[in-house]
Amino acid sequence: MEIITNKIAGKIKTELKNKDNIVIFTHRNPDGDALGAALGLFHFLKSMNKNVKVISPNAYPEFLHWLPGDSEVIEYNKQKPLAKSLIAGAEILFHLDFNSLSRIREMEKAVIGNLKAVKIMIDHHPDPEPFADIQISETRVSSTAELVYYLIRSLDKSSLRSKDICECLFTGIMTDTGCFSFNSSLPSTYEVVAHLLRSGMNKDRIFDMVYNNFTAARMKLLGFSLDQKMKVLPEYHTAYISLTREEMKRYEFQSGDTEGFVNFPLSIKGIKFSVLFLEKDKFVKISFRSRGEFPVNQLANKYFNGGGHKNASGGECELNMEETLKKFEGLLPEYESMLK
Ligand code: 5GP
Ligand code: MN
Repeated sequence: MEIITNKIAGKIKTELKNKDNIVIFTHRNPDGDALGAALGLFHFLKSMNKNVKVISPNAYPEFLHWLPGDSEVIEYNKQKPLAKSLIAGAEILFHLDFNSLSRIREMEKAVIGNLKAVKIMIDHHPDPEPFADIQISETRVSSTAELVYYLIRSLDKSSLRSKDICECLFTGIMTDTGCFSFNSSLPSTYEVVAHLLRSGMNKDRIFDMVYNNFTAARMKLLGFSLDQKMKVLPEYHTAYISLTREEMKRYEFQSGDTEGFVNFPLSIKGIKFSVLFLEKDKFVKISFRSRGEFPVNQLANKYFNGGGHKNASGGECELNMEETLKKFEGLLPEYESMLK
């Protein structure tokens, strides 16, 4: 399948020919794919001698801070004046791993305010908003990192010998497929991985940095969550976990500690729908996951101001935790037939 047409690659090539000041940014709370894709593209554009910067709307977990180029990532929340001036001065703005401007929240105004930059979207979520001048939006691929790979390959294949680029892109593919357990049934994903491995990068080291890098307190929080805070609703083939701020604090919560918790209930026989509710300052952050055909993005979008993929979505609720859980349980009868 042709993921990036010659026409699109040609358009991007033309833009890159004439423009030097480039800003790449990702969605809020960037994950391994958002940062891996952004930094992979960053290293590639640097090798073309571009003046390129990566901006993340906010902080991100410790287990991503080893990525090559991490020290150059600018956090919008912490360095607003600098980030704003970089966005205002950019000639190209790369929007990576999101397709709705609401996902960059605090940065939205600054990005919209730059009327002269060419806006390029590279993303793999459904239903893109039409804000980009050049749009690469492809839901069939594993990750945004895989899309960045195809773009780099069509612009300058020899760059894919760079270990830095390959490590970043591999991290995106590995994390967005849950180590090749979902969104990863196309043979082409493995052809991409094979090519990345030829750079000499060490995939086992990357696995260790991402998945074997937690504190003992985090492991205990996981135990507590599963033992004390998981509710199973067999009649709806659903299970959920909820954690209050006090509970997270008790286990010395650090950003990223609850990453992956939402997947555990899905390994219970018969469970098709799993949800994680986390109490934040002003709202409850919700993660939805499903196995099979149940489209969690529909429910996330209709009731929780969110969205995402069919089997992995997120959203928010401004009610308190107790009321959020009540609202959620109250919705399940509407979806009963789809959860059979
Ligand atoms: P997570 O549960 O890991 O935060 O997010 C899972 C998926 O849902 C990701 O692909 C992410 O892009 C999407 N997602 C998470 N939160 C939101 C949200 O608030 N709005 C939308 N539209 N998508 C979200
Ligand atoms: Mn992604």
